[in-house]
Amino acid sequence: MEGVKIVENLRDQLMALPKVELHLHLDGSVNPETILELAQKEGIDLPTENLDELRRYLEVPEDCKSLGEYLQKFEFPLAVMQTKEGLKRIAYELCERVAKENVRYFEVRFAPQLHTRKGLTLNEVVEAVLDGLNEGKREFNVKAGLILCAMRHQPVEINLEIADLAARFKEKGVVAVDLAGDEANFPVEDHAEVFERAKASGLHITIHAGEAAGAQSVAKAIELGAERIGHGVRSFEDPEVLAKLKEKKILLEVCPKSNRHTKAVRNISEHPVKEYFDKGIRVSINTDNRTVSNTSLTDEYQLVMEELGFTVDEIKKMILYAAETVFLPESERDQLVQEIKAELDL
Ligand SMILES: [Zn+2]
Repeated sequence: MEGVKIVENLRDQLMALPKVELHLHLDGSVNPETILELAQKEGIDLPTENLDELRRYLEVPEDCKSLGEYLQKFEFPLAVMQTKEGLKRIAYELCERVAKENVRYFEVRFAPQLHTRKGLTLNEVVEAVLDGLNEGKREFNVKAGLILCAMRHQPVEINLEIADLAARFKEKGVVAVDLAGDEANFPVEDHAEVFERAKASGLHITIHAGEAAGAQSVAKAIELGAERIGHGVRSFEDPEVLAKLKEKKILLEVCPKSNRHTKAVRNISEHPVKEYFDKGIRVSINTDNRTVSNTSLTDEYQLVMEELGFTVDEIKKMILYAAETVFLPESERDQLVQEIKAELDL
């Protein structure tokens, strides 16, 4: 009984921490109930109408075999994210979901170009998501920023459009441009122009790197102006890359469960995030896809404590690192940092 009580207390303690989440995909974090309801309303065929069975199509099993198996889980969420109503509702509900575990600020990302199948324009897609976020922010007392994802496998012309789109919505809630997708086959330098354009518009940059490719992919992302790196798991392969991350205070947006599911690491116990943290590299813990990996920040914190030996104080330090690298205007960022610092007693 004693042991159970300790675990419960830790859970409560982690749940109560004020949190910041930097790496979270909208399409991987849709409530299964919502997919069921929207599909029924829109006449979209699902393999089942039973909620528990549907979860099997939306969540990866713990023994997920590959990145390919992981990516299949986005098919049904994407199918119901093709209307203004669907996009707005899903963004709104994400605010509710994160607020339940005391997230104070989060940055959610998605690729608008994947949501035009039923004729929405890119502008309409982004507007609908921002509408949902704005309503959710007010209702659930949480702050949020939106990141637009360029995709590695897509032609640079489409990704340039995404950079322009982000620039148009810069004062309205879009904070940054990301590059997501097939890292192993499509190098970041093919999209250099996209990031030049984003930077010229005053947008922030984060890039998925070091997940399905090695440390050189991280080095290239830094060269192109990434202020944060999505994952960065394989940075350890090159000590110079680690030195650069530390020197430039570039934060790694680490997503432990997702990294295990996509096979970026075999086991959490082999994840280099603790080594990075101990070296003084800025790291933060994130969920990546709350539904696909059936996870929350509280789950992820608990996992890295159990598997990698992080202490609660170290978890707090990573929350502060995250707050210090949010893509908000300086004054708002400082306000968030002060709020988090005071509450975490740091
Ligand atoms: Zn990601």
